[in-house]
Amino acid sequence: MTYMVNQLDNLMKNNTNEPEFLQAATEVLQSLEPVIARHAQYRKSGILERLTEPDRQIKFRVSWIDDQGKIRINRGYRVQFNNAIGPYKGGLRFHPTVNFSIIKFLGFEQIFKNSLTGLPIGGGKGGSDFDPKGKSDREIMTFCQSFMTELHRHIGADTDVPAGDIGVGGREIGYLFGQYKRLCNQHTGALTGKSLSYGGSLVRKESTGFGLLYLLDAMLKANNKSIDGKIFVLSGSGNVAIYACQKAQEMGGKVVTMSDSSGWIYDSDGIHLEVIKEIKEVKQQRLSEYISYRPNAVYHEGKGIWSTPCDIALPCATQNELQLDDAKELVKNGVIAVAEGANMPTSLEATHYFQANHILFAPGKASNAGGVAVSALEMAQNSIRYSWEFNKTDLKLKKIMNDIFEKISESAKEYGVPGNYVDGANIAGFLKVADAMMAQGLF
Ligand code: GLU
Repeated sequence: MTYMVNQLDNLMKNNTNEPEFLQAATEVLQSLEPVIARHAQYRKSGILERLTEPDRQIKFRVSWIDDQGKIRINRGYRVQFNNAIGPYKGGLRFHPTVNFSIIKFLGFEQIFKNSLTGLPIGGGKGGSDFDPKGKSDREIMTFCQSFMTELHRHIGADTDVPAGDIGVGGREIGYLFGQYKRLCNQHTGALTGKSLSYGGSLVRKESTGFGLLYLLDAMLKANNKSIDGKIFVLSGSGNVAIYACQKAQEMGGKVVTMSDSSGWIYDSDGIHLEVIKEIKEVKQQRLSEYISYRPNAVYHEGKGIWSTPCDIALPCATQNELQLDDAKELVKNGVIAVAEGANMPTSLEATHYFQANHILFAPGKASNAGGVAVSALEMAQNSIRYSWEFNKTDLKLKKIMNDIFEKISESAKEYGVPGNYVDGANIAGFLKVADAMMAQGLF
């Protein structure tokens, strides 16, 4: 058995019942084949074996009391995956589907994504199976306080710095930070995604969506194409999707769809962003409300968004939302580029289908790295007790995204797979972490 086949085999054996983690890790290991073949030292030092096993996995009970006075119990998680290049860094996800497989896949992706940003941050992720949908503000606060009552002992500005992800936005970070500060008596940057009034960074809210468009722009330009005049099919309606939509429109694109877990909207005139912000950010309503503001738009219950003809597809909702049949539909309808705004929204089969059909494909660990990049800039500002203005931070984000594209494109060329940005991202992200691990001795 070759070394790589053996690695994949062990991965399967050691992580049965963790399909999402296996999917993420399999993709990375497959990309690394030429790297391992060229650099015997990584094999000798057991880098792959160490990298696929988290430094630490924490699981805890979160007890809280709902508005009816009933005691409720949820599970809390934090996976500290790798801190070779900096403190563990990655979001918290509150969603009923959360389990170790989901948190491990997200934490694993985060190692390479964070490495690609060029900033000193390691990989981690956490969350809970708590469902924020339909909960009152008081219930959210009580839950966050209880969650942090355990989490605080595991995190810190130089140890592990959580942020938001699905179900965790500015409000939740505020409650989490308040409890952290109460318990530790320290006003430090132990969380990012904070509001501006107590240490947040300008551009953090917009960063994942804006960054996605900056990377897409770089990828298109390198292939003699542009955003201007292109039709976008975009999924999701959370923070990533909203600011991706905004930047796509600013750059001359026309976004015709958005979605939530119940269905999706199609607006042939282009999505009216002010309406979306009113529905999602102000009133916190379902997306189906859109048609009451824009009667010419159509609301579709359930799936089917990827059958909308477009030039560019931006999956910005959640993992595995774009399957092989969707990819076939998109290719048939003439898509030229796909860039992932969510984490692992495209299945392995769908990714391979795009690549086999020469569709430009930007993997999430490169294209959605803008969020965590500005989180690292928030950490930097907290450390120097200062805050930079919007344009300065936005320019830094743009440069980081352009540099990421350069890195993934160069690595793909260097390892004989030009234009394969999936392999390029995995290789470039890996090399920095692997070298840092080698330098620090066995751990
Ligand atoms: N949850 C985001 C991500 O998937 C941001 C993480 C962070 O800012 O730490 O990268």
